[in-house]
Amino acid sequence: MKSNKKKKMKNNGALRCPYCGGTVVYRSAEGIYKDNSKDTMLYVCSHYPACDAYVRVHPGTKIPMGTMADQNLRSLRNTAHRHFDKLHKDGYMTRQEAYMWLANLISAPLSQAHIGYLGEYYCNLVIKESDKLLRTKQAIRKSKCEV
Ligand SMILES: [Zn+2]
Repeated sequence: MKSNKKKKMKNNGALRCPYCGGTVVYRSAEGIYKDNSKDTMLYVCSHYPACDAYVRVHPGTKIPMGTMADQNLRSLRNTAHRHFDKLHKDGYMTRQEAYMWLANLISAPLSQAHIGYLGEYYCNLVIKESDKLLRTKQAIRKSKCEV
């Protein structure tokens, strides 16, 4: 009988590049970031720049902020973050509430509810649903003002 127990690869960003399978190197963002005055450290695909997948670490740690992403996914995540951040930056909810909403949206535990973990599909979902929620909240705020 075949075992269905597939070994789950726990990739904390430090093993293989999800794009090309290359090894991943822990290094400074020097030469990758135009301005690395903050001395950012990255996990970078060893095939850089042919493969430009990388991920930042939390400052002062070796813990990646998410999963490795190429240029497309990085810019999509940035966009998703801007849309998502409006939810709490405009005072419609607290930061905590916004992350709880995100966790619920992507069906992930709160500890994993970070844009940095999301792929293309969920980034687009976050953009769409953040905007939808924002419009609803704006409409409510507006109707309260008009009363
Ligand atoms: Zn790669």
